[in-house]
Amino acid sequence: MFDYLIVGAGFAGSVLAERLAADAGKKVLVVDKRPHIAGNAYDEYNDDGVLVHRYGPHIFHTNSREVWDYLGRFTEWRPYEHRVRASVDGMLLPIPINLDTINQLYGLSLTSMQVEDFFHSVAEPREVVRTSEDAVVGRVGRELYDKFFRNYTRKQWGMDASELDAAVAARVPARTSRDDRYFTDTYQAMPLHGYTRMFQNLLAHPNIKVMLNTDYREVEGLIPYREVVFTGPVDEYFNFQYGKLPYRSLRFKHETVAREVFQPAPVVNYPNEHPYTRITEFKYLTGQEHPRTSVVYEYPCDDGDPYYPVPRPENAELYRKYKALADEAEGVWFVGRLATYKYYNMDQVVAQALSTYRKIMGLKAASNGRSRVPATELAAT
Ligand code: FAD
Ligand code: UDP
Repeated sequence: MFDYLIVGAGFAGSVLAERLAADAGKKVLVVDKRPHIAGNAYDEYNDDGVLVHRYGPHIFHTNSREVWDYLGRFTEWRPYEHRVRASVDGMLLPIPINLDTINQLYGLSLTSMQVEDFFHSVAEPREVVRTSEDAVVGRVGRELYDKFFRNYTRKQWGMDASELDAAVAARVPARTSRDDRYFTDTYQAMPLHGYTRMFQNLLAHPNIKVMLNTDYREVEGLIPYREVVFTGPVDEYFNFQYGKLPYRSLRFKHETVAREVFQPAPVVNYPNEHPYTRITEFKYLTGQEHPRTSVVYEYPCDDGDPYYPVPRPENAELYRKYKALADEAEGVWFVGRLATYKYYNMDQVVAQALSTYRKIMGLKAASNGRSRVPATELAAT
């Protein structure tokens, strides 16, 4: 008898498996319908021996000391700060938009203070910042929005930025400094031996069994377990009874070329040309040295694996209905990007899994995130 059936071997499922097995001594069965662990963070050496991310570039960054320390028990880190260029007007310019972006784009030599004035002069102020269009146009005006955001967003989401929550484009906020890093988090690094190796370590506990190539519905009723942790799409779990929750998908085109370097930056975004959104060259991310180099092109589409929840009010409304069902489902815990329909980064999923673990165990987080006291004991003292 297993204490837990965990559906999905991505961050949500693997972190919960590790905590339940190693911290609480539970017996755990992890099933994933894919032929590998690590979910969308899966990486592998391709036929040419280059380490690539099968499901697109995954760069780890977090402000959470707890998440950083926790994952650090399962991997060493390689310091890495991500940088992206956008192909605009025949140039490769820093994105997020920063001081250098403006100076290079317009042939100016503004200072940080002057570029703030520049943003003010072109911004179309919004009383309420509701949509992604509001978020960008309200800060840097329509011209920069048109050059960097409008078409990228249309390609990526199949809809206009005015139809998406502000939070989507707000992931890439304009700056007045020359900081050209994509993320500004306190901790930024890549797992030294890759994500898959880190997941192997997470799942290495003797109380954890992993079954791949297995949809959980194939084992339901055959293998006994007490409770379920579900990390797949929440609408699928409930047989789409309120209709499908929209997810955006991607088609990945992987390619290896017989030269050492493909492009001058780890990622180049193509807002205005090509049907793909961006090209990633993996060796920048992994630090691998190799005479060849591998890249991936991302082609957004509607059909295919669900990769992105689509943040907009009507979808949040539909999700609320599924969440009500999830809250009522006894002995089933819904965790992760698909199961809680949140546009979460990896670290946010890890934090959510750690906090779900505390909920499951009835533990309360201590302020240092280490020693935890059961809620019952707290109540008694
Ligand atoms: P997943 O990794 O999706 O895991 C869910 C697992 O459940 C899957 O393996 C699936 O096969 C399995 N499953 C589903 N249904 C069933 C079923 N019926 N039976 C059995 N198994 C099932 N985050 C960052 O922090 N930095 C980045 O740079 C970054 N880049 C990204 C780039 C792309 C292209 C994408 C799509 C995402 C990116 N992310 C990034 C987000 C990151 O991938 C997610 O936050 C994280 O992987 C989510 O983990 P999860 O466990 O919730 O979901
Ligand atoms: N975005 C854009 N142009 C860019 C980069 C981002 O319009 O050059 C917008 C786009 O809507 C995108 C969102 O900002 O979906 C978030 O970008 P991010 O790079 O965080 O997306 P992810 O890595 O999650 O695909």
